[in-house]
Order: sequence, then structure tokens, then C-alpha cells
Amino acid sequence: MLSHALKAVIWDFDNTLVDTRARNRSVTRRIIETVTDRAADEFHVLSEQRLYDSAIYRWQNWQDLYRVEFELSQDQIRAAGRLWTGYQAEDSTPTRWFEGIAEVVRRLADWPQAIVSMNTSDNIRAALGHADLGDHFRLVVGCDDVAYERQKPDADGLLHCLDTLTEDEEGTVLYVGDHPVDAQCAANANRELDRRGAALRVVAIGAAYGADAPLDGWPVAPDFQAHAPDDVLAIAGISEPPAT
Ligand SMILES: [Mg+2]
Repeated sequence: MLSHALKAVIWDFDNTLVDTRARNRSVTRRIIETVTDRAADEFHVLSEQRLYDSAIYRWQNWQDLYRVEFELSQDQIRAAGRLWTGYQAEDSTPTRWFEGIAEVVRRLADWPQAIVSMNTSDNIRAALGHADLGDHFRLVVGCDDVAYERQKPDADGLLHCLDTLTEDEEGTVLYVGDHPVDAQCAANANRELDRRGAALRVVAIGAAYGADAPLDGWPVAPDFQAHAPDDVLAIAGISEPPAT
């Protein structure tokens, strides 16, 4: 339960709302082949899904993954970034919303909700449209909405949401994410709120309900863990089903 009133709920996208692992690996394989002119299977972490998944959790963001695992230069990383949206749109690898997560989003309809992600806002809006959930999110902040050097764990995207959805009044904003970088981002947002003297606080929820996301050993531990989507409602203090 939260000690201050809930003001908003902000979500990460990949592997928090939607299981995108297979699609993202498929797109990454094509990008790496284009940028390096080498076969994707030559790169160990692209050869199997489980290896790609564990690499995703090993690195803070995709730029680090590309720099270290694929040994791309900064220019190649930027070129790779420009291919992401188009290749995503052309890739038909299935993605799926986690079981029960859409219902949780709908039950939070009385609070403003937003998404802060390192995927592109176009991809995210397409996924929201397919699930008929677009109206539930007042704001979608993707990687293209935040300066290249200021992606998560920097808090620029999250702070933009807080500034748009709240007025820094006393209260709590939930940030739900599956990756250590999400909890670090929440902590960085709280540092900025402290600097402003704001009474608003971001509470980080580690999402561990479907993507085999390891919650142990995060550099910044989340305030809560959600082992099922409904846990987000319980943490928010909304435990009763709506009247029908
Ligand atoms: Mg994620």
C-alpha cells in the first residue's frame, strides 16, 4: 500500500505491458545484418532467443548492447537506431500483451496513465491501437521523444510525464518496469523532485510476471515487486473488482 495518494501510473512498454522479446530479436537480427553486412548467427547473443533475452537484462540500454555485444561504432549505432521503426513495422513476428495486464490498465482508468519506453512511440501507439487501449494513455514518450544521450536511466522522459500528468503536488506516481534501468530511472526522477523541493514521489514497481525478468541484484532495488499484473492494483490500494 502507498503512504501518499496515487496521482498517476506510468508504464514501461517492452516486457512490462507487451511481451516483445521475439519481435525485438527478429528486428535486431535484421538491423545487425544490415549495418554490419554479416550474418546474424555470427553474433552469439542473436543466435538463440534465451541468449538475446539474457543480454537485454545484462545491459542498461540497447546502445550498450550494440556497442559491446556487436562491437558497433557510434555511427553504426545511430544508423541502427534509424532502422528500428521501419523494421518493426515490417516484421510480423507475433507479440502478446501479458495475460491480465489490459484489465489492470482499464481498472486504473480513474488515474492518468502514460508510457515511458526506449521503443519508439510509433510502435507503441500501434500496439495500443491493436489492443484498443489507446484512450487509456494520456502520453507516450518513446526513445525518439528524448535526446539520444538522455535515455533511461536518465529521468528526462519520466519527468516529462510527471510534469504533464501532475503538478508536483504531494502524492505518489507508480512507475512499472521489468528492467533494472527502470528502477534507476525512478530513483533519478526522485533526485530531481528532491532538488525542486517537490512532495511528489515516484514509486518503482519491478514487473516480474512474464518475461523471466530477474528481479535479484538490481543496482537500485524497486520499491515493490509485481509477480502478477494484479499486484499493481494491490500496491495501488485498488483490490476490489469494479461493480458490474
Ligand atoms: Mg522493458
